[in-house]
Amino acid sequence: MKYQIIKEFSFEAAHRLMKNYCGKCANNHGHSYLVKLHLEGKELDEKDMLLDFIETKLLKTWIDETLDHVTILWEEDPMIETLRSFGNKVLVTTKNPTAEHIAELILAKAQELFTNETIQVFCVEINETCTSAAKVYAN
Ligand SMILES: [Zn+2]
Repeated sequence: MKYQIIKEFSFEAAHRLMKNYCGKCANNHGHSYLVKLHLEGKELDEKDMLLDFIETKLLKTWIDETLDHVTILWEEDPMIETLRSFGNKVLVTTKNPTAEHIAELILAKAQELFTNETIQVFCVEINETCTSAAKVYAN
């Protein structure tokens, strides 16, 4: 038997795609991102939980501090310094800040926070819009 728990988070952020991209998403724009974290494991703890949902607040705090009301830009985007000069928060990424890559960043943080002998991060799903989502699996 295997158990899975799912926790949702949300944040507001701006981004634009500059790396090898020339479509409309090269314009700076924002999304209300919805994140779904899937954790899994084969054993429950002494409270018969895979993980107490309250523990996922660690990831919520990281999302709030790192991604919420931030502009997410590829490291070669010329807008980085301009935004910083106005005191804006910028998260610089090594890849285009696509939904796929933002999901990767969240998955890596979730692994750091929650992975142990009994819990694994299964996947992170992120919606950019009501109809568009990306999913990244740990394996
Ligand atoms: Zn977008």
